[in-house]
Amino acid sequence: MKILVVGGGGREHALVWKLAQSPRRPEILCAPGNPGTAEWGRNVPVGAEDVEGLLALAERERVDLTVVGPEAPLLAGLADRFREAGLRIFGPSRAAAEIEGSKGYAKALMTRVGIPTARYAAFDSYEEALRYLRSHGAPVVVKADGLAAGKGVVVARTVEEAEAALRSMMVDGVFGESGRRVVLEEMLEGREATVMAFVSGETVVPMVPAQDHKPVFDGNRGPNTGGMGTYSPVPWIDEDTMTRVESKILRPVARALVEDGRPFYGVLYAGLMLTAEGPKVIEFNARFGDPEAQVVLPRLETDLLDVLEAVLDGTLDRIEVRWSPQAAVCVILTAAGYPGSYRKGDSITGLDEDGSLQRGDQNEALIFHAGTARADDGSLVTAGGRVLGVTGLGDSLAQAREAAYRAVGCLRFSGMHYRRDIAAQASEATEAAGQGPSGL
Ligand code: AMP
Repeated sequence: MKILVVGGGGREHALVWKLAQSPRRPEILCAPGNPGTAEWGRNVPVGAEDVEGLLALAERERVDLTVVGPEAPLLAGLADRFREAGLRIFGPSRAAAEIEGSKGYAKALMTRVGIPTARYAAFDSYEEALRYLRSHGAPVVVKADGLAAGKGVVVARTVEEAEAALRSMMVDGVFGESGRRVVLEEMLEGREATVMAFVSGETVVPMVPAQDHKPVFDGNRGPNTGGMGTYSPVPWIDEDTMTRVESKILRPVARALVEDGRPFYGVLYAGLMLTAEGPKVIEFNARFGDPEAQVVLPRLETDLLDVLEAVLDGTLDRIEVRWSPQAAVCVILTAAGYPGSYRKGDSITGLDEDGSLQRGDQNEALIFHAGTARADDGSLVTAGGRVLGVTGLGDSLAQAREAAYRAVGCLRFSGMHYRRDIAAQASEATEAAGQGPSGL
């Protein structure tokens, strides 16, 4: 069995690592991969967005199953191209991935089938958006309609702030075409959480929940990033909330996509706000979240390969997807300056040749590579904004947190930055309530 994983970040390292544990012992290729994925498989220098290059690679190597990490290739039609060529690929078609690629489409679908979400209005015209804004007032959330790498959202407390965001997106075009169309949204209040699910047409199997930390600094200060750290389980998601998420959000969306002639085969990610009226959708993504994958995949007990195949074979309702009761906490190490411009090429110390931690802790902490590279002399250097993900595991969030930060303490590179408060509130809340992991 030969598998190709598309992408080269922490999520893809987690996918490759998990697939490598399959008792079916698959041979794994990763395009383009990173030094972490190279420990478990063979990296091939084909870009994640090079649709034709990936197709040629899969055909040449006789790949049995391709697994897509990032959203961009899905929205470029990678899965459609592979299926047309008769190749098996885990990831939604371009049309189904629009649930992530177009906030306007996602909102219209949610409104149509009554999925709880923030009230909104979409605009192509700056003048009309401005008029709506002035009549509805603040607080309001301004979003670029298309992909903006998680940065196209401004939660504006005042009308002035919202006007500035509208101007930069619609007039100055800071997000290019993605921002020519904007969505203005009601601001939701509550705690955020993510529930991802394996989706095969109308069949939905939710994963354990996770929570990300977007802003770059402790206490949620500073600009938003791709994600500074995650944890799972999430103490404020209980069985009852999970049931509501599944029955009121995930299943209806999967069904609506089928009705729209866009059946979804892959991972559907629901970003949620747990409001006083129940969970509401902030956004959908059409793939694993990163760094959410770095805490959820380590908790998966069932063979990931079996689950991915069941999604494609339409047998997802026939397998049992089991999760470990252990808690997981992932701390992301970033390069100085990230999410703005940052330096590359700083040497990373603390990891063995094979990419694992030098000083013990191997059993407690997993190291997932994202922006790393091998220098000419074979040493490990920084090569991106998010450099490494360090996932600690334990019997409680507090223990998992300790394991993660202990491992972080062994790692070093010039300008290394990380948040010190990942999962802090959640582990305090759990300890205060005298609970172990909630089981979710
Ligand atoms: P998104 O890219 O849509 O996930 O938005 C990024 C972040 O903006 C979310 O993680 C939330 O913290 C915040 N956000 C987005 N939409 C809303 C909303 N309607 N109300 C409150 N916060 C929001």
